[in-house]
Amino acid sequence: MIKSLEALRSVEIGIGLFHMKKEFGIVVHGGAGKLARVSRSDLSKRRAKLVESASEGFKIMHFKGGSATDAVESAINVLESSKLFNAGLGSCLTLEGQVRMDAAIMNGDLSCGAIADQSLMYKSISLARKVMEESDHVLMVGNDSLRKFCDAIGYKTAGFEVSYPSRAQISRFNEFLKLVGSRKYSDWKRNTSLFNKYLLRNPVPAEQTGTVGCVALDADGKLCSGVSTGGRWMKLPGRVGDSAIVGAGLYACNSTGAVSATGAGEEIIRICLSKMVSDFMRDGLGAQLACEIAIKVLSKTSGNGTGGLIAIDKDGGVGRACNTEVLPTAVRLSSIPVPLVVISKEERLSQLLFSKPKGKANRQK
Ligand code: ASP
Repeated sequence: MIKSLEALRSVEIGIGLFHMKKEFGIVVHGGAGKLARVSRSDLSKRRAKLVESASEGFKIMHFKGGSATDAVESAINVLESSKLFNAGLGSCLTLEGQVRMDAAIMNGDLSCGAIADQSLMYKSISLARKVMEESDHVLMVGNDSLRKFCDAIGYKTAGFEVSYPSRAQISRFNEFLKLVGSRKYSDWKRNTSLFNKYLLRNPVPAEQTGTVGCVALDADGKLCSGVSTGGRWMKLPGRVGDSAIVGAGLYACNSTGAVSATGAGEEIIRICLSKMVSDFMRDGLGAQLACEIAIKVLSKTSGNGTGGLIAIDKDGGVGRACNTEVLPTAVRLSSIPVPLVVISKEERLSQLLFSKPKGKANRQK
């Protein structure tokens, strides 16, 4: 009798283990930037949207049996549609006042797809996924070539184009144009002398909204990272940033982790920032330490105020670091029943994850 009870228990345990899901989760961010010109109400809207995005991605993995790739795409779609971030409908404008978006997605098996300099579809991440899944290429650039590609695969983009910037985008553009005119726009250096050749007199300020990025690990241990952006204000037409460049704006590898970067694209490209984080994880560092060290390298090569990173390692450890004032970030993990949010540079995810979340400030239902 005792023997058979034990046998039964071990079967139960076995079944329990069999059904027990591994740790999985998702991290999303809303762009590295300055706090100065973000109003309180804007910040709380962005915070709520990030929570919605992380919850949506998590729901897809948890309840709908979706993969990390599905989660990343859906989470980023939420942010692209919100007009609150520098991506999709909230994208910043080029020097000529046009929306031109970059995005990329990468799975832990190294499959990846990216699109750049396009306004065919505001859900840029979905278009990048199509390049990954329906073509042999990694990066496709420009509306004409992407239109042909979408026609060829029968992907409908009608209704998702961003032909005309919104009123809010135009009014911000005009503010920046004034700064350009009075030579107070300081983000770009060499471009300054080119601006008048583009019919203007000069360049650039801090971003008020940020690029969006996401990393996820699903219950099957698969990783995915994604990034979507309008680029940088007053960029020259044709400029492509890090967000479309694998190794710079994002990286994913099932034996290390998934990483997504934000900030000054040119600086991020120079040092292959996301691949660097993945390499640190390969050397045995957890996601948090890997992000922190990579941001130190970025600060050394490019100065402060240049970028931020989020990552999830293959064991479900999460990381986030930036050298900017803020990097609004939301996290949803299978081991923690509520989404967690951190905003400023000083707030650390580890404080929330390794101690019980305290107070309302960092908890959102
Ligand atoms: N990294 C993006 C770019 O340079 C901008 C950002 O992250 O805000 O295009």
